[in-house]
Amino acid sequence: MLKVNVSLFNLITLLIFGLIPHQLNAQSYVQGEVIVKLKSSPQSLQTQQFFNKAQRQNQLVLKNSFSKMKMYHFAGKPGQSVEELISDLRKDPNVEYAEPNYFVNKKDLHGLEQTYTADEIRSLSANSPYLTTGADIHVTEVWASVSVNETKPIVAIIDTGLDINHSVFSDSNAVWVNQNEIPNNGIDDDGNGYIDDVNGWNFVHNSGYMLDDDGHGTHVAGIVLSVGQDIFANSIEESKINIMPLKFLDAEGVGKTSDAINAIYYAIENGAKVLNNSWGGPNYSGALHEAIVYSYEQGVTFVAAAGNAGTDNDYVPMYPSSYNVPHVISVAATTDLDYLASFSNFGHSSVDLGSPGVFILSTIPGGGFGSSSGTSMAAPFISGVAAMMLVESPEMLGYQVKEIVFNQADTLPQLNSKLATEARVNAQAAVQFAKSSVVTTSQPNYSFTNEDRQLASSLAGGGGCGMVAKLYSHMSNGGGGTPGPGGEIGAWYIIVILGIVSLPLMFLYYLRSQLPEESRRHQRFKIDSEVKVKIGDKELIGSVSSISLGGVQLNTDALLEKGSIVTMMISSPDGKEQIDVNGHIVWSEQQKSYGVQFERTTESLKEKINRWSKSLKPT
Ligand code: CA
Repeated sequence: MLKVNVSLFNLITLLIFGLIPHQLNAQSYVQGEVIVKLKSSPQSLQTQQFFNKAQRQNQLVLKNSFSKMKMYHFAGKPGQSVEELISDLRKDPNVEYAEPNYFVNKKDLHGLEQTYTADEIRSLSANSPYLTTGADIHVTEVWASVSVNETKPIVAIIDTGLDINHSVFSDSNAVWVNQNEIPNNGIDDDGNGYIDDVNGWNFVHNSGYMLDDDGHGTHVAGIVLSVGQDIFANSIEESKINIMPLKFLDAEGVGKTSDAINAIYYAIENGAKVLNNSWGGPNYSGALHEAIVYSYEQGVTFVAAAGNAGTDNDYVPMYPSSYNVPHVISVAATTDLDYLASFSNFGHSSVDLGSPGVFILSTIPGGGFGSSSGTSMAAPFISGVAAMMLVESPEMLGYQVKEIVFNQADTLPQLNSKLATEARVNAQAAVQFAKSSVVTTSQPNYSFTNEDRQLASSLAGGGGCGMVAKLYSHMSNGGGGTPGPGGEIGAWYIIVILGIVSLPLMFLYYLRSQLPEESRRHQRFKIDSEVKVKIGDKELIGSVSSISLGGVQLNTDALLEKGSIVTMMISSPDGKEQIDVNGHIVWSEQQKSYGVQFERTTESLKEKINRWSKSLKPT
């Protein structure tokens, strides 16, 4: 009963705060850039007029166009903020939506955990984690049962790139080759818009030259390949699939939504059947959502990592994993013992199934091997399974692939109420079932609607969210600006709305006061002090704006990986004392900021925070 109340509180709080348009977070999108969707078709007069105005009058620079989707990626004039750009564009009746170009990042936990040379791995391979684990997903049976087919299904690895010269990929002929492109002639031979794209495309450096300056993509690609064959074998066999590397994450593992969209279109136009997405971010993007809907219509399988914050995606979504397009497979990480990994995101309605994601051994750039953890490592097992199903049944659509993977997964009681299938993947069962299945040629209808709450509310005419949004924008303009069609908003109106909004909050406050002390959330206090944060071998300085016995709210311009383990040195408000504490990075959707949750609240930590908080105000 207690549990129900607490989660009810979280749910309703989220619902209430979800109605209030959140301030855009300066660190979560590319400065000066927007993605715009028009209502008019590319050749129409209205589109011509829009472009004339955008380019001549407003000095927007077109960076990219997805004209088939009526979407355009622009940079504003120097110094113009994204908020200004979006607010200007939304006034244009021909604009369906305009949104920031959000950053996303890779979803491994903390890079490589341990590395091995090729020789070392061969002596070890009999003990490699995913072969001897209690969580046997039955890939060795798949190795034996599936043979090389004439056409290899193409798996796009939308990631940090690929070391195409790693012997595992080069000796097995696994790397996709664009047969219609002549290497290094400086000509776009196949007319697909990319010059010398022989093995895929590098969207970060805008080049056909493929590299992996991070290691994440190479690791992910090795896992995909490992479902079909032994990647640790002395002499590697011919691959059953092709890997198409599409690099859009940089050396830090950070990428732009615009490049992710580019990569998804490239993958589909160039024949990929499975798209592996071991990356994500907290921000909803209509443009990315539409690209994924397009990929659904093309019949591909879209696999996405659920995220590594250890949080519930039903309440705090992680995109692209949380787009509810029917072919998206959202993957959580499970351990050797088939439990949900402590860092893995979950969600009874939004995260689909589990797959091994702890200490996974795979390829790393330079020819060696290494282990890594994260939902980034769990997703590619599913992509590998989907690819093997397509070797057996090449015409199968993404929706059917997903259904079979779900139905053939091993149900586990410990995943009850955590994942939609309550199961962990079984590679052999899924591939076997696909082999004997009749291919269905239709998929359920799914049509795109923009789910951006902020956009929906700012465009809505009257009641509901729209009313709160209007009020909010009016208040944040200091009451100035041009009155809307509804006229001036009187003070009484503000009081009525605030009353309506605060009623459920008061009720919740009452509910909380009925809970015993220990189950209440820690009281938070406002604080303004400096903090030094150490993440791996990186160190950054930020500030802390609130503190409780459970953690702090962290302000920094750096992009941080959710779930990362950090060491902090927090200064007291007077700068005379310090707290040294370990924790992990969490993301608050309401605050649009990072937080650090303490790993352990020791007695001395408790004593210091309690003492400091005597001179602080509660939030
Ligand atoms: Ca080309």
